[in-house]
Amino acid sequence: MIPIIDSKRQYATVGAEVEKEVVEVLRSGSYILGKNCKAFEEEIAKFLDVKNAVTLNSGTDALHLALRALDIGAGDEVITVAFTFVATTEAIGIVGAKPVFVDIDPDTFNIDVNEIESKITPRTKAILPVHLYGQPCNMDVIMDIAKRHDLFVIEDACQAIGAEYKGKKVGTFGDIGCFSFYPTKNLGTMGDGGLAVTNSEFLKNRMIALRNHGGAIRYYHDEIGVNSRLDEIQAAILRVKLNYIDEWNKKRREHAAYYNELFKDAKDIETPKELDNTYCVYHQYTVKVPNRDEVHKLLQENGIGAMIYYPVPLHLQKVHAHLGLKEGLLPNTEKNTKLVLSLPMFAEITEEEQRTVAKTLIECVEKAKSKVSA
Ligand SMILES: *Cc1c(COP(=O)(O)O)cnc(C)c1O
Repeated sequence: MIPIIDSKRQYATVGAEVEKEVVEVLRSGSYILGKNCKAFEEEIAKFLDVKNAVTLNSGTDALHLALRALDIGAGDEVITVAFTFVATTEAIGIVGAKPVFVDIDPDTFNIDVNEIESKITPRTKAILPVHLYGQPCNMDVIMDIAKRHDLFVIEDACQAIGAEYKGKKVGTFGDIGCFSFYPTKNLGTMGDGGLAVTNSEFLKNRMIALRNHGGAIRYYHDEIGVNSRLDEIQAAILRVKLNYIDEWNKKRREHAAYYNELFKDAKDIETPKELDNTYCVYHQYTVKVPNRDEVHKLLQENGIGAMIYYPVPLHLQKVHAHLGLKEGLLPNTEKNTKLVLSLPMFAEITEEEQRTVAKTLIECVEKAKSKVSA
């Protein structure tokens, strides 16, 4: 069995260091928002080249509190995509705003920047692009549109830590960038964790208050906040792993290049594309194949842990049924939802495993063809 991700193998490389730091936290008696959180916020701000980083409990909270910090709520619209994890629009729903969906560019799976302007209304407050699968969005165009229409930009960079657009890290273009440290993310901790980054001192202070019951001073509360603090154990683990993120992302890119090479002559398998001037970090290596569901089933039977991210686009999910959106609204989103298949991808995967994945996928695509036509 070749899994889509193998967290145990990563642990084998950093486990000794992690255990040492975690034991220190356990012995320290300081467990929430202590010195590790503070140090991690400084270290990751430096890594991303952004002024302020605010640690939080999850990527979902980062999106939620980013919207709160920008005073986006009932009656407001936020332009985003339906080809993403539900947390993106869930956060919009939590604050009472309305997601307005734009179709994707089928080459990158990211927001189609040519369609954004047609969705802007007097109620639009922000654009929320998602750097899906670790692939940067076209930030030049998005920032230009936002500037001309006086809109905020919140980047969902939960899958894209370390990715770059024209040499600048994603998550640092807009007003606020959101990251997740869920265990399977490129920089994953051993529980939940998240981060919001901003160059604005004002927005930083807003999020610091919101994450801790809506008050900057303890026991003085100015507004309804939440409890979204990162704990010291997670911060200590993240500080260790941050030292490896560049190396891990580089390996993912090498594995992606090797997969591309292995699929070079397989004309039914469409490999991922990269925009010029971007540094994609391959949170997922996602191909497009015909008869995808049959191929997926055959791969599972043959011990390959492929996954479908995501099987139902968000505009057709029950959670957004009240928006009354119908199939046909987002043709590229709907079409690609039926084609995508993410293959095993993690820094420690071996070339031999990649060859097995590629050979098996090529065979399964052939087999699925005869099965469907039969
Ligand atoms: C993982 C993820 C989130 C949410 O992060 P959590 O830490 O799991 O809350 C949001 N958006 C995208 C695109 C994600 O992949």
